[in-house]
Amino acid sequence: MGFLADALSRVKPSATIAVTQKARELRAQGREIISLSVGEPDFDTPDNIKAAAIEAIRRGETKYGPVAGILPLREAIARKFRRENGLDYKVSQCIVGTGGKQILFNALMASLNPGDEVIISAPYWVSYPEIVALCGGNAVIVGTTAEHDYKLQPETLEKAINSKTKWVILNSPSNPSGAAYSHDELKALTDVLLRHPHVWVLTDDMYEHLVYGDFVHATPAQVEPALYDRTLTMNGVSKAYAMTGWRIGYAAGPEKLIRAMDMIQGQQTSGACSIAQWAAVEALDGPQDFIAESRKVFEGRRDLVVSMLNQAAYLSVHRPEGAFYVYPSCAEALGKTSEGGRTIESDVDFVTALLEEQGVAVVQGSAFGMGPNFRVSYATTNETLAKACGKIQVFCAGLR
Ligand code: PLP
Repeated sequence: MGFLADALSRVKPSATIAVTQKARELRAQGREIISLSVGEPDFDTPDNIKAAAIEAIRRGETKYGPVAGILPLREAIARKFRRENGLDYKVSQCIVGTGGKQILFNALMASLNPGDEVIISAPYWVSYPEIVALCGGNAVIVGTTAEHDYKLQPETLEKAINSKTKWVILNSPSNPSGAAYSHDELKALTDVLLRHPHVWVLTDDMYEHLVYGDFVHATPAQVEPALYDRTLTMNGVSKAYAMTGWRIGYAAGPEKLIRAMDMIQGQQTSGACSIAQWAAVEALDGPQDFIAESRKVFEGRRDLVVSMLNQAAYLSVHRPEGAFYVYPSCAEALGKTSEGGRTIESDVDFVTALLEEQGVAVVQGSAFGMGPNFRVSYATTNETLAKACGKIQVFCAGLR
């Protein structure tokens, strides 16, 4: 690679780029393309949160703050964990980052040595294995099945653990499957971890508030308090409060890890944007009506998408508990030919033909480490979803 760092060779370019690029090209040619590939709520940030940011600017909260986050936000985070998760964290155990993504990066950077292993279950959020690789660790990908709703099974976890295992990453509800672990399902996993005291848990609870019906979100340190001293509980305001662009994520965990993350952040960003942090204080401490409202809207969309896609030939869709994604299997479509004459041999072929022939953009499961599936994001209006799912039905009906 010459000038560029060897570390780059460990990282893959985003597997979603090809489809996004194709969608862009088709749009440029004047085709109407419906994208069900976005990973963010379609709502605007609530007004009270915007107002808090504007007020912070007016007050002159525009200077460098503490690297780990402004005190009012770290206090609000400690309150949030107590109120919503029954977890007691001191302010010194809480850290704010520039998005949940940076929290994850700093936690792994602060803890991984070459050869250390991080267990990740597929389908996974695309960034986990890449961040592990960038931080010099080895991602150990373990499989799940549709029969188990794409959830990691205790036996699978047990088998993947060895002396090199440093972390297991859990993500509930999951991007891309929407699957969320109940208290008992999580307990079965934490029971395995009790037998392996050297393994830490990084739980990504980013979609915590987007769970439907009577499902109750659970998080490892709450389900198994004995894991408290080796759990990093990560969360953020991006998805819960429609604040993806504000770039605020946070975590709480053992002080030695938080201090190490603080040190890295001090030589990196010097901390998250002060104004966005004041907005996040309002998000966590202010009225929470937005969460209930958006949850209701997303639940209706999930039900619409699951029902319409289940009526499509050759697709099988489970009904996930949370997030704003569904993850249909297109296994039965493999070996068929589309109406436009394209042979479908993989999920990449499926999503490419769907895009070219029906103008609907979704993301192939192989981008998330498990296929043949594709990820549908339902973070868009019912009208758009009904139209797109109708087109997917037409596409599937045309397969021969
Ligand atoms: N974790 C999961 C599972 C996600 O899907 C995302 C964003 O797509 C993140 C973390 C990162 O969120 P943030 O916007 O806070 O960096």
